[in-house]
Amino acid sequence: MTEKFKAPRGTFDVLPEQQSVRRRIAEVARRRLEAAGYGRMDTPIFEDTNLFARGVGESTDIVQKQMFTFEDQGGRSLTLRPEATASVCRAYLEHGMQQLAQPVKLWTDGPFFRHERPQAGRYRQFTQINAEGIGSDSPLVDAEMILLAHDTLAELRVPDVRLRLGSLGTPATRAAYLDELRDYLRSHERDLSEEVVARIDVNPLRAFDADHEGTRRVMDGAPTLLERLDQADAEHFDAVRRLLDRNEVEYHLDPTLVRGLDYYTRTVFEFECERLGAQSGIGGGGRYDGLIEQLGGPPTPGCGWALGVDRVALALQKNGGDGVKARIGVFVVAEEGERDRALNVVTELRRADIPADLDLAGRAIKGQMKQADRVGARHALILSADAKATLRDMGSGEEREIDPATLVETLSSR
Ligand code: AMP
Repeated sequence: MTEKFKAPRGTFDVLPEQQSVRRRIAEVARRRLEAAGYGRMDTPIFEDTNLFARGVGESTDIVQKQMFTFEDQGGRSLTLRPEATASVCRAYLEHGMQQLAQPVKLWTDGPFFRHERPQAGRYRQFTQINAEGIGSDSPLVDAEMILLAHDTLAELRVPDVRLRLGSLGTPATRAAYLDELRDYLRSHERDLSEEVVARIDVNPLRAFDADHEGTRRVMDGAPTLLERLDQADAEHFDAVRRLLDRNEVEYHLDPTLVRGLDYYTRTVFEFECERLGAQSGIGGGGRYDGLIEQLGGPPTPGCGWALGVDRVALALQKNGGDGVKARIGVFVVAEEGERDRALNVVTELRRADIPADLDLAGRAIKGQMKQADRVGARHALILSADAKATLRDMGSGEEREIDPATLVETLSSR
């Protein structure tokens, strides 16, 4: 028996009927970003493995477990990009964008790859739209970015969106805080769940998410990172919050918000759609003031986000579909002997930018009319052997004879 092929685990095909919602998401984001001065750029789908090891962070799940890494014929280690920020920052340095007026505002979109455990909303190849603002540490950048993501999701009418906002401070503040939190947890070990105790060293922040009664009581009194921010970071965060308030963006302060990438400093945020269940994160980002330096550049602040197109599409579908159907303007129905003429007519219409289609499967007239209905054609144009043409309004059923020579003119005016 011959083998039957399937799309690789964790990947999927995007079928024609699923295109319009994705196109709309990309289109709304593109329009909003470009209207705000963000320039599109594309980076390669694969990069030097070290870029991500250094950029995303050696200790992250992404680098430790999730990268699709391969060796090319020349023995170089390459990796399918798991995220965009490291690549965009590499490009910023490679093209000397420090010389441009700062901040440099860039956006991109395309496929990304992570070897994750596949489930609804979590794939090994997924699509993101990314925005980055590099070269300014002003809280205005953080606020502008959050506003752009917020307004994009609002225009798309993604239902039940929640924005979680936090600040991580500097890496030094964070490290000191985590030590303090570990000490606090150890001093309350008796009241914590076994699971939390087992993770005190690796991930003490997890304790904040626990359902365990005793753990929750302990965590009510635990110190939070937001309380430990130094003065400059606290002021920066206050400014971001003030700007969001002034622009009527609702957010929930989340002192335990951590993101899966090492490079974040100061502001972090995540957009969630509760309707999506376990994989509710539809976008997220934050500030990465140390990243460019880590990649060998001069100290350069930056801020960015990624929206998950697949999940936004899922959220919109759960909301009752995207409401956009590809429409054929005219379906040309041909009597036997008129089929060649049908292609002429369709070509003429298409060249005049009128979406047109014809039967390519030898259907009888009745079958062709059915097909016209199936493709959602607004009109059927019936070509009969006497060189006549009848235009039928598929909605009302109204028919009238028309002169084929004036076809384009007649249809353009509708
Ligand atoms: P991240 O780069 O991890 O901050 O992710 C940003 C957004 O990309 C998330 O909020 C998700 O919407 C989306 N995303 C990340 N990983 C995946 C995945 N494996 N499958 C589908 N979407 C993803």
